[in-house]
Amino acid sequence: MPTVLDMDTTEELALDTDMVEEESWRVGSTDGAPDLSDGGMVNGVRVRPARDKTVTKGRPAARRAWMANGTETLLPLAWDTDGKNHDYGARYFRKRLCLCCQRGGFKGRQCPDCVKKNCSLCNSSSNPKKIIPCFYRRRADVPFPTKFYGSIDCFLVGCIRRDSQGFLTQADMRLHARSMHKLEYQAHLESLEIDKKDEVTELRRRLDDLMSNMSRQGPTGPTVATAQPPKKRRTKAQIEAARQLGENSKARAARRAAGAAA
Ligand SMILES: [Zn+2]
Ligand SMILES: [Zn+2]
Ligand SMILES: [Zn+2]
Repeated sequence: MPTVLDMDTTEELALDTDMVEEESWRVGSTDGAPDLSDGGMVNGVRVRPARDKTVTKGRPAARRAWMANGTETLLPLAWDTDGKNHDYGARYFRKRLCLCCQRGGFKGRQCPDCVKKNCSLCNSSSNPKKIIPCFYRRRADVPFPTKFYGSIDCFLVGCIRRDSQGFLTQADMRLHARSMHKLEYQAHLESLEIDKKDEVTELRRRLDDLMSNMSRQGPTGPTVATAQPPKKRRTKAQIEAARQLGENSKARAARRAAGAAA
């Protein structure tokens, strides 16, 4: 994961395409030059790769940008030979996307593929509504934003991926957090771990208290529930007495019935 350019919102807003392109020419454009991440010649100057001692450690290597469908992406920055100025990724903002055949990444007003195959759908149009930029500096400028936000917030309070711009799944959030806020996420996970340990310690302490209270009160202490004494079995004599009682009452009822009939 490269260090990402930390752009102030106001700085980003003040940044206008022409200005950026001018800037990129002023610092010596690498436009049209091959990828220089492994060194090479630019305007007669030898460019060395990042292990060069003049390169200050931790300088941003990329900036955030958005693709036509709203997907966030990172664009590599081109630095000048002093390592003091970069191009804000300007060369990527000149790349175009053809809405006819979906080819992206070319420069110029026409899609080279549509030109080559003499496309009858777009007639190799140079209409800027059909040949649109590949990348956008602001999410708000994206022409075809797809709904890919969910309700799961990034764990980091200051992150843009919150509220209406959260994630669809926890896994997406973790993936984003691991790549975009590596150190913060590590610390976050550790503090969660500590919280969990604290919780376990607290529960253990409470359990110990409970156990020691119970053993202190012992058998003489107040009992929560008084057990019912088991029902005693009736003796033969009792069963016999009950039978007699039943018979007597039956006989009484029979006598009463006879009396009523008479
Ligand atoms: Zn095309
Ligand atoms: Zn076409
Ligand atoms: Zn985030």
